[in-house]
Amino acid sequence: MEQELLSLQAEARKNLDQIAEQGQLEDFRIRYLGRKGQFSVIMRELGTVSPEERPRLGQLANTIKAEIEKAFDEKKAVLSSSPQSGAKGAALIDLSLPGRYPERGSLHPVTQIMNEVCSIFEALGFSVAEGPDVEHDHYNFEALNIPAHHPARDMHDTFYVSESILLRTHTSPMQARIMESQQPPLRVIAPGKVYRCDSDITHTPMFHQVEGFLVDTKVSFADLKGILTVFTQKMFDKDLDLRFRPSFFPFTEPSAEVDIACVICGGSGCRVCKQTGWLEILGAGMIDPEVFKMVGYDPEIYSGFAFGLGIERIAMLKYGINDIRLYYENDLRFLSQF
Ligand SMILES: [Zn+2]
Repeated sequence: MEQELLSLQAEARKNLDQIAEQGQLEDFRIRYLGRKGQFSVIMRELGTVSPEERPRLGQLANTIKAEIEKAFDEKKAVLSSSPQSGAKGAALIDLSLPGRYPERGSLHPVTQIMNEVCSIFEALGFSVAEGPDVEHDHYNFEALNIPAHHPARDMHDTFYVSESILLRTHTSPMQARIMESQQPPLRVIAPGKVYRCDSDITHTPMFHQVEGFLVDTKVSFADLKGILTVFTQKMFDKDLDLRFRPSFFPFTEPSAEVDIACVICGGSGCRVCKQTGWLEILGAGMIDPEVFKMVGYDPEIYSGFAFGLGIERIAMLKYGINDIRLYYENDLRFLSQF
């Protein structure tokens, strides 16, 4: 028994010395140190040894096993830190695996619709102008025929910075700014962010509008209808019916809310159009002579129309999105669909 232990010790040491790479370590461990390894076999044989011999042989077996385990751990440490094993590791890289592509960003759906709206109007001869988000009360209200205490101000839920400075509640201030500095004929669209103190399933405190207006001699409501018909046809790739409902805006007269035949059901009635067959997409009208007077145009000579549409609203209709807040949660699973 003792002889057996000593020869096993010599054999294990010799084999351990010959190991040159990490892959062989596991074989060694199983063969000598594992639960079914040679040391375990000998330990079990201790049961057959005479009781007087048992303690001495047991202690010898434990000492030898501990020594081999220690040598094994040292060998393992040496092999895993040697540069040779690094080279071996590098050779294990599988060059046939498919690569990992970096995530690619894309334009936000609101930006995409904004660009599309602009390019449709540019094709119709409109130029694009941008104005400040932080606006004077004068341009946001006064110059648009909304004097102080006018009830229309209540509808705007305005964020005021100071008494006379505010975050613009619509893109219409650009009408006044441009008419003030340029002479007709004018064909302009003004896209941008607008702000209102409002938040629910169809409202966010910041959203996007495009303001459009045209000023020239002999501009009529028929021109407005023509431009908007071409726009909706191009935007939704469909020949959609338009409906003009009388409405009121302080800076246009007459004014209209414009509906299109429901893009989902085509007019027969569905959940999106609340069974009416119509979807409201923008507000429009002929520019009020009072607005012309304020910028110094002669309303006897010039006439024009203006319209304003919400970008998020158009995108919701075009893509069938039912909650406006999805645009601003920055969830890539949502955004990457566009
Ligand atoms: Zn419908």
